[in-house]
Amino acid sequence: MYCNYCGKVIQDDANLCAYCGTRIGAIVARKRLVRPRVGRKIAGVCLGISEFFDLDVTLVRLPLLAYLIAWIVMPEEPKLLPAAPAAAPERVAG
Ligand SMILES: [Zn+2]
Repeated sequence: MYCNYCGKVIQDDANLCAYCGTRIGAIVARKRLVRPRVGRKIAGVCLGISEFFDLDVTLVRLPLLAYLIAWIVMPEEPKLLPAAPAAAPERVAG
């Protein structure tokens, strides 16, 4: 069997390519949304979502990464202070 990504020869019963780490064949589109123990980067959330929906894990990781970077980089809009009450007309004393 050959890896579809790097083209190297791998064992027929392998789940992962030993050369590039790509998941092969058997585990495609899981039926339950779980965090896989093999191939995860941090907690396996993106990998689990990508396997559940049969997507490339990069398609799941990139938007999340962009979100986190934007969260750090984007400044918050300035606070809006309540408008000062309109000045009351001056009363003429006496
Ligand atoms: Zn490979």
